[in-house]
Amino acid sequence: MLYGPGDIRFEDRETPNIMKPTDAVIRLTVTCVCGSDLWPYRGLQPINGPTAMGHEYCGIVEEVGSAVKSIKPGQFVVGSFAASDSTCPHCRYGYQSSCQQREWVSTAQAPFLRVPLADGTLVPTPGMPSDNLFPSLLTCSDVLGTAWFAADAAKVKPGAAVVVVGDGAVGLLSVLSAKQMGAERIIVMSRHVSRQKLAQEFGATEIVTERGDEGVARIKELTRGVGADSVLECVGTQESMMQAIQSARPGGHLSFVGVPHGVELNGTQLFFSHVHVHGGPAPVRRYLPKLIDLVLNGKINPGKVFDLVLPLEQVAEGYRAMHERRAIKVLLRP
Ligand SMILES: [Zn+2]
Ligand SMILES: [Zn+2]
Repeated sequence: MLYGPGDIRFEDRETPNIMKPTDAVIRLTVTCVCGSDLWPYRGLQPINGPTAMGHEYCGIVEEVGSAVKSIKPGQFVVGSFAASDSTCPHCRYGYQSSCQQREWVSTAQAPFLRVPLADGTLVPTPGMPSDNLFPSLLTCSDVLGTAWFAADAAKVKPGAAVVVVGDGAVGLLSVLSAKQMGAERIIVMSRHVSRQKLAQEFGATEIVTERGDEGVARIKELTRGVGADSVLECVGTQESMMQAIQSARPGGHLSFVGVPHGVELNGTQLFFSHVHVHGGPAPVRRYLPKLIDLVLNGKINPGKVFDLVLPLEQVAEGYRAMHERRAIKVLLRP
């Protein structure tokens, strides 16, 4: 529970129950802290009294409501942070995170979780996956799903020159996603040596440590003055957004998946940039079957972004470690 800036507490709460016939309750095998949890933790996003946290999850179904048809108790499931019915026009168009019945999942840093619209939201694995795959399956729920959307929305194609702005967990997994989609060059804007190393493991070909105008100049230099085909903005600040727009070539694609905080775009600049811009809360549900498959088949190992594992009781230390950038992403074991 978040009580105020810097004040996360582990406390006993009531186990969630089925509230609507379309709900499921799952027992979480693992959960985690997200970069976006740090905005309210830092006091940069107001909260309304003590607030339960967490929106990334996977685990075993305990109980389902009377209207749930495809999800069964005992199944191992992964779901998106945005619950969706998967039947409305927006869902069928592939934008489940804009579902007409959307509900945000927001109480996942806990041993049990109530998931609304279970049939539309959850994807079961073919059997019980082995423990060592839990971290990678957990990333499908948000960070990997969001990173995949970043690469997809920026139209990463085989042979493309890609720039990733940001070296948080989403930025790093955007590198992995761009690599999977066949990018030839993946340039990461990062200043942290340990993160650069992981970026290279995931497929980054070049690192740019400069920021702002200098960063843009460096990208231009690396692309013979042209700019990148695809730019993936994974931070959400004014500086990172400006860097991203200016790094793309005319006709190039820019995606932005970091929740914007204080970002304002200049219409004239956007007009003359000739850049396609597409972003938003990732429709993770669209990608879940594919991503789960890639993990189960050992094609990708996105769970490597978790560089600190703590018992759920130590959630406060988890937030501190991410806030102080001692950890890229913290896995919590209920
Ligand atoms: Zn998240
Ligand atoms: Zn829908």
